[in-house]
Amino acid sequence: MAIDASLIEADANKQNSTPKEDWDATHIDSADAPRAVREYLDTLDKAAFGAASEVQPKFTSHSDPASQWTAARKGPAFFSYSDNYLIDTDHGVILDVEGTRSIRQAEVGSTQTMLTRVKAKFGLVPDWMIADTAYGSGPMLGWLVERKIDPYIPVIDKAGRPDGTWTRTDFDWDALNDQYICPEGHALKQFRRNYSDPSRGPTGKGTARYRALKEVCQVCPSKQKCCPNAEARKITREEQEDARQVARDLANTEEYQIAMKLRKKVEMLFAHLKRILGLGRLRLRGPCGANDEFLLAATAQNLRKLAKIFPAPQQTRKA
Ligand code: SF4
Repeated sequence: MAIDASLIEADANKQNSTPKEDWDATHIDSADAPRAVREYLDTLDKAAFGAASEVQPKFTSHSDPASQWTAARKGPAFFSYSDNYLIDTDHGVILDVEGTRSIRQAEVGSTQTMLTRVKAKFGLVPDWMIADTAYGSGPMLGWLVERKIDPYIPVIDKAGRPDGTWTRTDFDWDALNDQYICPEGHALKQFRRNYSDPSRGPTGKGTARYRALKEVCQVCPSKQKCCPNAEARKITREEQEDARQVARDLANTEEYQIAMKLRKKVEMLFAHLKRILGLGRLRLRGPCGANDEFLLAATAQNLRKLAKIFPAPQQTRKA
């Protein structure tokens, strides 16, 4: 299976919107509000919409407040919803569709919603999942690997160091002893004794910190390449690092190249949706309106695809 999201413009414009510093949803009277505004209030706690992020959008539309002000296409910003597709890569059939706010957390969250729904509805569980870098966070990869779904997904990796010194990938992970081994063969450990300060252990955000011994680094011949500005080298180990490593290992396989080509099938479906079916801008407002339009458009695309896979029997004309 493969997954991706595409922005579809909402039926809203900036002239009829409020900047974030002036927006206050608590003053809206839901009894008097139009349907799209009531839906906005109803979805404020839902992971696919209001609860997807605590960051307030720069502008909120009056006519469709659940739509997201976004400049994700690197062009002028506009109000939009995200159309998320889960497809079967053998035939390009859309297995599930979900409308969300146009932010990464909501789009990535829809993967779990759709995979859970497809399993419950059709009993389908993929052996592998293909997606782009937006889906390569630790929690997402961990969720897939836990369910024995191989992630053919580029990992979001912030381990790079701009000063050219050794990065985390230059250190070997020793899972048995819960430590990293540096290129000079010394151990970086999380705990060497019982610390009274809990902040020296796991941070509570799923990130653990490993340190080399100061006295070892101070006399190390490779210190300039490793930690020129620190007394000793420190390395953080992100949440779900094992799952991230699974994805990194898969990225070095031949299958990964095939997977990246198969991913284009979702992009082609979105191109078809916009250019041929003409769904460049929504006509209905609110999360329900967006979901209805996305579902109907995906159904039309599937019918077209199924007609190609199973063509109707040719009727022979009687002479
Ligand atoms: S500076 Fe420390 S961590 Fe880095 S290579 Fe030398 S001993 Fe290892």
